Amino acid sequence: MSADIESVSAEAVAARTAELSATLAGLLARIDAGCVAAGRDPNSVRLLPVTKFFPASDVAILYRLGRRDFGESREQEATAKVAAVRDEELSGIRWHMIGRLQRNKARVVARWAHTVHSIDSERLATALDAGARDALDAGDRTDPVRVLLQVSLDDDPARGGVPAADLAPLAERVAAAPGLRLSGLMAIPPLGAESDAAFARLATLHTLLLADHPEATDLSAGMSGDLESAIEHGSTVVRVGTALMGGRPITSA
Ligand SMILES: *Cc1c(COP(=O)(O)O)cnc(C)c1O
Repeated sequence: MSADIESVSAEAVAARTAELSATLAGLLARIDAGCVAAGRDPNSVRLLPVTKFFPASDVAILYRLGRRDFGESREQEATAKVAAVRDEELSGIRWHMIGRLQRNKARVVARWAHTVHSIDSERLATALDAGARDALDAGDRTDPVRVLLQVSLDDDPARGGVPAADLAPLAERVAAAPGLRLSGLMAIPPLGAESDAAFARLATLHTLLLADHPEATDLSAGMSGDLESAIEHGSTVVRVGTALMGGRPITSA
């Protein structure tokens, strides 16, 4: 597995490091400017680099540039990449599962995910809780899996996310699960929707959630194209792929 990283030539690593350090600096400046425009403390918004479709060697480069959190959206790709990166002994990495998760993959994700951003049903929460408790018992992890509830902003089941009406019972279920820790809310604006209106709705739902669960302070919102709008509406985590890594061969959900 580590061949994935070791096989990259020194020249290629140097070139990619220059590229990523430039896009990273630009992105951090963009986030800071978004915070200033929104009248927010720049430290209140974290960048989550999304490394899907990009090799483990890019994760290693970003690690050397100081990043510790990484987002992945496809279970198989992520599980292989986590193993490749683990072989490099880069300590202190926190992996985030941000994509749709199938129930039968919850167990394997519970072994590597620090945070899962995409829990949208009680059945999925139950499966992840079982996997997390097994991983805790086996010593594969030391802390519960942090969970963000993915909420649907248009109630279209095809896009993923729990309908807003079902958010409160799902939050109760996650808060009561010993293997999970309720940490906040995540959403992806509906296709074609005006992101400002979508993020405003999300902010309202987050305020409601916080009333019952004051610990659920994370708001995972904003991507390459809309992070300023998300920051204006209270995002605490922006999930950025393209603007940092470059274009992907194909787009994913
Ligand atoms: C790919 C992905 C992102 C990053 O999207 P970009 O537009 O490339 O920044 C964010 N969130 C989720 C859930 C994703 O799958």
